[in-house]
Amino acid sequence: MPMNDQGRPSRPTSAAAETAAPRGTFTGNRALDLEEALIFEIGRPDTSGVDLPAPSAAKARLGSLARKAPLGLPGLSEPEAVRHYVRLSRRNYSIDAGLYPLGSCTMKHNPRLNEKMARLAGFSDVHPLQPTSTVPGALELIGEVGRWLTELTGMAAVAMSPKAGAHGELAGMMAIKAALKARGLDKPVVLVPESAHGTNPATAAAIGFEVRAVPARADGTVGAADVRAAIDERVGAIMLTNPNTCGIFEPEVAEIAAAIHEAGGYFYCDGANFNAIVGKVRPGDFGVDAMHINLHKTFSTPHGGGGPGAGPVVLSERLAAFAPLPFVRVTDGEAVLVENPEDTADGETPYGRLTAFHGQMGMFTRAYAYMLSHGADGLRQASEDAVLSANYLRACLSDVMTLPFPDHPSMHEVLFDDRFLDGTGVTTLDFAKAMIDEGYHPMTMYFPLVVHGAMLIEPTESESKAALDLFAATLRDLVFAATGGDSERFTGAPRFAPRRRLDETRAARSPKLRWDKPAAAE
Ligand SMILES: *Cc1c(COP(=O)(O)O)cnc(C)c1O
Repeated sequence: MPMNDQGRPSRPTSAAAETAAPRGTFTGNRALDLEEALIFEIGRPDTSGVDLPAPSAAKARLGSLARKAPLGLPGLSEPEAVRHYVRLSRRNYSIDAGLYPLGSCTMKHNPRLNEKMARLAGFSDVHPLQPTSTVPGALELIGEVGRWLTELTGMAAVAMSPKAGAHGELAGMMAIKAALKARGLDKPVVLVPESAHGTNPATAAAIGFEVRAVPARADGTVGAADVRAAIDERVGAIMLTNPNTCGIFEPEVAEIAAAIHEAGGYFYCDGANFNAIVGKVRPGDFGVDAMHINLHKTFSTPHGGGGPGAGPVVLSERLAAFAPLPFVRVTDGEAVLVENPEDTADGETPYGRLTAFHGQMGMFTRAYAYMLSHGADGLRQASEDAVLSANYLRACLSDVMTLPFPDHPSMHEVLFDDRFLDGTGVTTLDFAKAMIDEGYHPMTMYFPLVVHGAMLIEPTESESKAALDLFAATLRDLVFAATGGDSERFTGAPRFAPRRRLDETRAARSPKLRWDKPAAAE
């Protein structure tokens, strides 16, 4: 084993090669598709990327708290560490690698200009604990993004601190809860349509509301009459997605808003699909009281893999006062950070503190760069192009794939069901796996739940016509393979991915989140 000048091994043992799944080659690699073991399997505690001189005899002041056993962290040389992470990153499908048609997720191109702006030291190096007097530019930027959001949505106020869409839902629903309480109303029920994203009922339930389902109509929309029928004096709010998760603009949304307002309740709108309507419709105009905006969807900042994201929630006049701390208040062009209840002004009655720190600075900077580089007209154009792309795919595919709701035009995403696979022995899941073999990330599958075997495709405005044509042609080829009896291409898929079919149920039910050292390696 090679040793460095300090007598420590300079590279890992061959344990990695031994544990790699045999894939018909000696190394487990397949050409440039490289196998990669866990870092704990390739690293060794006694290997180090740097050789530091032995410490001079500094007096240890940890007393009995000093660590006696080694930390047990895997050690790798610098090139080994770089390779490990680069190899893993090559396993990751990303919007920079190819078309990412995941419906409801708005996986759009993140312009490199955003990255350049986010790396400006004045934004990227801001420390949450540095005095706010040293960061007036960052505060001004937060205020400006907020101003764009309230302008684009036609709303009175915005809470910029939520860190994700679901967190924005929480922030907005807590504002509604506080407003009901301030009015002395006991209205513990929230209406949620069957087609809603799972985060909606989860949010309502998490803060103590009872969730009452509103049935979906056969045409994929929510009916004002059904909402009225579900409303009684106990109903305090409705959570509705518009455009909805079937990719349809709710035709009766204004009537639904009126119904909940007449009953003294509030209208929470899930704004994850805002990309379809920016610059076209202002949610404030159709009666929304609170709506989160996924900056990481509509305003291009990168997302996936759990973050980072940002989910500002815009609030109507009726809820504005309840916006949680911390928030940025802009008066006469000057932005100040309000963190404590004693710093609030007249008419500001925050329901509490939502986050320890304001953020996400990087996401705000990217979103602002996106807004400024597009301008108001460019943002509208992006929405129009996103809707055009989805409807183009719909036109390319609807003669061979089945539309559950053919009577409504699609917004920014097109929803198919699995009737076109009837009798083929191929399921939506099989179809998605075969797409992986073709080099595509699958579309959103089995969501929304109101459609059997749902396939929800959102191409976004980022894709060229050539890219959409190739995608449509690929799906058509797969449809013909399925209906032509080649079910092996589907049930055996993915054939070319680093891993084949995984036991997804077991992975979800009993996830292995911890690596235990194999006994033999002790
Ligand atoms: C993405 C999404 C959410 C949740 O947003 P996160 O940022 O992932 O927390 C909620 N509702 C809908 C419809 C979504 O698409």
